[in-house]
Amino acid sequence: MFTLIPAAGSGSRSAATQPKQYAMLAGRPMLWHAIRAVCVPPVETVFVVLAPGDTAFAEHDWSAFGDRLEALYCGGESRRDSVFNGLLAAQLQADDWVLVHDAARPCLPERDLKALIAACELDEVGGLLALPVADTVKRGSEGRVAKTEDRSALWLAQTPQMFRAGVLMQALQRARGPVTDEAAALEQMGLQPRLVPGSRENLKVTWPEDFAIAEALLRRKS
Ligand code: C5P
Repeated sequence: MFTLIPAAGSGSRSAATQPKQYAMLAGRPMLWHAIRAVCVPPVETVFVVLAPGDTAFAEHDWSAFGDRLEALYCGGESRRDSVFNGLLAAQLQADDWVLVHDAARPCLPERDLKALIAACELDEVGGLLALPVADTVKRGSEGRVAKTEDRSALWLAQTPQMFRAGVLMQALQRARGPVTDEAAALEQMGLQPRLVPGSRENLKVTWPEDFAIAEALLRRKS
């Protein structure tokens, strides 16, 4: 089993001066924590997809991961391109399972990773960690409520997302329109990825205030 971490984004929403995957949390770059969270058996190798011009990666210490970590300088314009280019460069077999995990989710608990693998390894399609929506959800229009959505069937998609490398590459290559996660590409092929309940700890560090929350969660772990 392999993991691929797309880490070629610029992090424009986090108001940081550097790409957010290199923001320091609990003494290490965010990307280091994301790698650590997925660098556990049965994962053999973690591939990190970096922007071709990335100079920051080489400035940090990744020795804790030894040869289980491989950096690929082939990131693309969008997350979808980065994942596709990374899968191509990693030269996986079509039926290899691959976990795609955001660099921006450094607090993934090991129990969530194990739950995902256990739920998906015998599944035809694969699946993703996700959270049932707890808040009431409004559709907005010009700053006012246009409609209250029925939240009972709504989930927030997280990562890792676990699919077979061959199907995932086919799906990403064919996908049209906004594809903000891997599952969305498979859905366009008519497939129905399994939803595996995750936890709020696995937050996606996106907005400026998320950094303090992630830092506190990581300090609690170490
Ligand atoms: O921008 P967003 O927070 O949705 O990015 C999710 C993940 O995709 C991050 O780990 C980011 O580094 C990665 N990404 C990428 N290549 C891009 C854009 C985003 O690898 N062109």
